Amino acid sequence: MARLGGGADSDDDFVVPEGLVDVERRSNCSLDAIVAVLSQCPTFRRALGNGAEAAESDALRYLGAAFRASAEGSDAGVDAAVDGLRAALAARGDQDEDGEGVRSELATGGAHLDVAEVLGEVMSVLSTSERCQKAASALRTKGHIHQRACVKCGKRNEDFRDDVAFDELARSAPATALVDAARSGTGRVADTFRDAHAHAAKSCDACHAPAACEVDVILDHAAKALVLSLAWYSTDQDGNDVAALLELVWRDAPMPVEKVFSKNPNGRQRGSKAGLRRLDLFAVAVFQNAHYTAFVRASDGSDSWTYHDRRSAVAVGPFANVVARCRAGPMLPYLLFYDALPAPPGN
Ligand SMILES: [Zn+2]
Repeated sequence: MARLGGGADSDDDFVVPEGLVDVERRSNCSLDAIVAVLSQCPTFRRALGNGAEAAESDALRYLGAAFRASAEGSDAGVDAAVDGLRAALAARGDQDEDGEGVRSELATGGAHLDVAEVLGEVMSVLSTSERCQKAASALRTKGHIHQRACVKCGKRNEDFRDDVAFDELARSAPATALVDAARSGTGRVADTFRDAHAHAAKSCDACHAPAACEVDVILDHAAKALVLSLAWYSTDQDGNDVAALLELVWRDAPMPVEKVFSKNPNGRQRGSKAGLRRLDLFAVAVFQNAHYTAFVRASDGSDSWTYHDRRSAVAVGPFANVVARCRAGPMLPYLLFYDALPAPPGN
């Protein structure tokens, strides 16, 4: 806890005083934010167990070490483990054909890495280990995209005989779509993310009825802990838009996770007595001044949040204070994490 995490002064982190040779210009902030969130994400940690520490890969052992050091409150330990994790993830870049992309960026010293891409790399390395499969799949949603038979004539379009498999981590939507949903007063988070990926109904090749073949998503496995990603096309944003967006996210939590993917969730969920599974907002990774940080909720489900900026962790109180900080920055939310949390104390 070397300094208070204020957000406003985060630029200072990247200024290397002239003449100092022992100050390294590091920018592991996207990995720091991911470690802060994943290390506390109840479902992910349960699924992982000690799988990372026992894994064959360097990257996974560093991830396990980062979680352990974080639990022990060892700042230096987390720093060393996150550095190692970054190097190990970068080393996987040898398999990249084009040398472009996040793996080659991981190998550079100062590039600011996209937090969603880095999360994708962490999940990808988890999925390479037998011991970590459960944790890797806990955050993914799998299913297939299915085109129904024509409602008029019952024929199926030739070009869509077979369903298309889909396997997703971090469903994305344009941030403006969520701001619009918030401003409209009637928009919902799940609808916004689903609509961003909606497939228009196809016209029938046999009888030519327009929009007669519905396309929908059939879920085989919905994420146990859900990640949503927001695309901002400019960092120059109105703090009030950011606040409106976050207020909608909070109002709409817990959220029916299957609804993020399908209007009429079917497949395994069909006929389920339990109804739609709802997941609560657990963490928000934010971006300001080329720097990622994260707000993480207490895992007991209470409305009590902590702000993680690198090694500093500062209690910020209820989500209303998270909104206030993000409005003031503005700090732009890039990733929203949902998990099954206990009912808040007192409810
Ligand atoms: Zn038809």
